[in-house]
Amino acid sequence: ALRHSGFRFDNSWARDLPGTFVAQDPDAAPAPQIIVLNDALAADLGLAVDVLAQNPGWFAGGSLPDGAAPVALAYAGHQFGGFSPQLGDGRAHLIGEHIGPDGRRRDIQLKGSGRTPFSRGGDGKAALGPMLREYVISEAMAALGVPTTRSLAVALTGEDVRREAGRLPGAVVTRVAASHLRVGTFQFWAARGDHDTLARVVDYAIARHDTDLVGQRGRVVAFFDRVIARQARLVAAWMGLGFVHGVLNTDNVALSGETIDYGPCAFMEAYAPGTVFSSIDHQGRYAYANQPHILAWNMSKLAESLLPLMGDADAAVAVLNDRLSGISTIYQAEWLAVMRDKLALDGAQDGDANLATGFLAAMEGQGADWTLAFRRLAQAADGDTTPLRALFADPAKLDQWLPLWRARLRADAADHLRATNPLAIPRNHLVEKALRTAEQGDMALFTALLAQVTDPYTDRPGREAYALPAPAGFGDYVTFC
Ligand code: AMP
Ligand code: MG
Ligand code: MG
Repeated sequence: ALRHSGFRFDNSWARDLPGTFVAQDPDAAPAPQIIVLNDALAADLGLAVDVLAQNPGWFAGGSLPDGAAPVALAYAGHQFGGFSPQLGDGRAHLIGEHIGPDGRRRDIQLKGSGRTPFSRGGDGKAALGPMLREYVISEAMAALGVPTTRSLAVALTGEDVRREAGRLPGAVVTRVAASHLRVGTFQFWAARGDHDTLARVVDYAIARHDTDLVGQRGRVVAFFDRVIARQARLVAAWMGLGFVHGVLNTDNVALSGETIDYGPCAFMEAYAPGTVFSSIDHQGRYAYANQPHILAWNMSKLAESLLPLMGDADAAVAVLNDRLSGISTIYQAEWLAVMRDKLALDGAQDGDANLATGFLAAMEGQGADWTLAFRRLAQAADGDTTPLRALFADPAKLDQWLPLWRARLRADAADHLRATNPLAIPRNHLVEKALRTAEQGDMALFTALLAQVTDPYTDRPGREAYALPAPAGFGDYVTFC
């Protein structure tokens, strides 16, 4: 008997925001083949995995599930501080908005699916490696409890793409997102001086993400507050995990508060505030410790894009500046909550921020792996500091810090630490190896890595290799968009 895919599309963007997108079908892939399919996510979304598996063209391009109506969205953005008035979906197609069994609306987007009017000089395509990277890291982030877009599938197109590295297998990732509204979406209309469309897009964003604000007076500022709150929480979560997004341009900042656009991202190993992985981030603009500052900068660009909607200009500027000056306090509170959790502190006390920065200071310059150091606090809480101390070239500062920390521990500290600090994250050398072997047609390492990083906390024999940082011979890790 025929079975329905479970897709229930209701394409509100296309319906409510005429003039802000271009209708455009994905390219037809010559030989579509699904190579990863997210069974668990499909089930959560109410989708029939077997039906999806029988329709590789839905995920590589060439066919569409019923009710899909592909569009490419317009947006602008500040890239490394410089404004580009027109970016947009240059290699992505929003194929529709799916309403899940929970009633939630989610964008289903193909990325790497061909040229659009926003492609500029690009080919509209994607290579397999970066699409698999997005899949494995976004799914790891979801398992780590970080707000993020999800990955439903990666499919080969059956054609090669030309990149600096040579010819590579072409692929498409299917991204699932609360929405694809970005800071840059508002910037596009603000920069053109099209305040009518800007107002419609802002009200659409409010309806999509902050329904309780719909129709309210003062909703623009209230929405700004919500975005700040979500972004502060998000960046604090990244900081707790040692995650370096790598390309925090305003077009890669989602108004939903989800992590979006897994390009040159990677996890820091030895703690160093200036950690940068991206080959193009020469100034360290998006370095690990700079992310909270970039958050504030990006929110100032969001404020500029909202200003035209706020009537009396002087008063509006004052209100928005007041909000902007509050960001560091909001962020600091989120960061402290993350650190209290990661350190298993008992309740909240005044000296906690110092205690947290004291641990970081003890790690700095000692080669201590961020993820392992926090994980091994569990053993230290149980009285065995040897594995933790072994991570430090010189544990002198750590030894001074440990008694201060012990005095603040909650009763169930060891269990809490193991439930809060991951054992398995997507380690850079393992991600690279999994992607390289996948390019050669062997998905075994990718599949094994995915299973590990989507179960980040469980202590179990056989996981040791996934918990360790790259061997010294791996060298400095450099990532490419
Ligand atoms: P990203 O660095 O992925 O955030 O992308 C920045 C902009 O470049 C967006 O407008 C993308 O759609 C566009 N872009 C990136 N790669 C390609 C490509 N291969 N072809 C066309 N446009 C692209
Ligand atoms: Mg982007
Ligand atoms: Mg990208």
